[in-house]
Amino acid sequence: MSTTPLSPSPRRTAPTHLLLAAWRGYLAFPLIWKMLIALAIGALTGLIVGEPVTVVEPLGQVFLQLLQMLVVPLILTTLIAGVASINPARLGSIGLKVLVFYLVTSALAITIGILLALAITPGAGLSMPGTTDEEPESPPALSEVFLDIIPENPFAAMVEGNVLAVIFVAIAAGIALAFMQNSANDHTRELGDFLRRGVDGAVELVFRVVRGVLEYAPVGVFALIAVVLAETGAEALRPLLELTVATYGGIALQILVYVGLLTIFRAAIGPFFLAAKDPMLTGFVTRSSGGTLPVTIRAAERLGIRKGVYGFTLPFGATVNMDGTAIYVGAATVFVANVAGVQLSLIELATVVIVGVLASIGTAGVPGAGLIMLSLTVTQAGLPFAPVALVAGIDAILDMARTMCNVTGDLVATRIIAGTEPGMLADPGSAPAESTDAAAGTDGSGSDGTGTAADRSD
Ligand code: ASP
Repeated sequence: MSTTPLSPSPRRTAPTHLLLAAWRGYLAFPLIWKMLIALAIGALTGLIVGEPVTVVEPLGQVFLQLLQMLVVPLILTTLIAGVASINPARLGSIGLKVLVFYLVTSALAITIGILLALAITPGAGLSMPGTTDEEPESPPALSEVFLDIIPENPFAAMVEGNVLAVIFVAIAAGIALAFMQNSANDHTRELGDFLRRGVDGAVELVFRVVRGVLEYAPVGVFALIAVVLAETGAEALRPLLELTVATYGGIALQILVYVGLLTIFRAAIGPFFLAAKDPMLTGFVTRSSGGTLPVTIRAAERLGIRKGVYGFTLPFGATVNMDGTAIYVGAATVFVANVAGVQLSLIELATVVIVGVLASIGTAGVPGAGLIMLSLTVTQAGLPFAPVALVAGIDAILDMARTMCNVTGDLVATRIIAGTEPGMLADPGSAPAESTDAAAGTDGSGSDGTGTAADRSD
């Protein structure tokens, strides 16, 4: 019994163990359920307790500030890493086509999201504490918006949270880094590799913070929905339903656009969706384009697409092409403006499109990334931030559909581009694309690109 004095007393350890076990259980419980349960309990508490529940308001404010805190670091790190992962030498015909395709479809997607939300007007008539009193910022002239993209001082842009300027700086740095890593000069290449490792480390670090913030999200969601419902009553739930309808409706429209594009480029619709259903379902369930990548690659192989195309387009798409997310950002920004009682001007809507598309380049295919993109767009549009937390409550439900749309968009682009590149699409019934590639020695750029996207998917 000589060890007894040193061992902690069972009375003291029991609560600690219990707390630890509860914490582990909390972490292991799927986030989507935590958010939905928090939303439900918060709503009930707000409705039943009423006014006194407003004491929990600071808990919601903490969540909002955590989200805003992540915007600049997330864009800066993921965008530099994303752009730097493109080998400049491979940005030939396929690279250019895929880049144009991804940019055009993303711009179209965010426009669909905005237009549908303008028609459905989610959030109109709902007033949230802390939004209506705020003076909406007067919109800047379009020329000013474009000039502001180039910062006189990159560090000032980061400090001031000038998102477009930060995006510009990150893209420029990413391109420079890509050239350094592929330089013929050994010393420059070494420096490039060294910097790249640092950037990848920073991406990982930011993602870990994002995951931590998302673990706090249920608390924030609980507090915010409770306060809103205590002050406005049950009608606050209707706008969220409207936003869900706008987002899912926009995604359905985008799938129709894909059908149109596949038809124009003479790709058979039936076989395409027969192969695409696996990644679509996986994306829906996992809420991660990066995590779905292996399934998307298998679908591309089933469609007879050569690795020389999909090895570049799919990993790149999982990181930069997010049509579903763009629809969500468009619709949710209109929702936020409606709740704040702000009428977005045409210039502001155009800015939302530009910011949304640019931000989608730098946001990786991981669950919840779209919420940060929304925070960014809302900040850029000068809108009050509080309604974003309401969206956060149903974000997981919206994330499922938008991820499904994101992976479908990647596969559509891959199929269409393969059809326009000689020898990149196997004839039906010929040898599987993989083995033909191996025989031809085409390795595409899958190795680096796949690694990048997959690495980020955890
Ligand atoms: N979860 C999405 C994806 O992986 C990104 C998002 O949050 O919108 O594609």
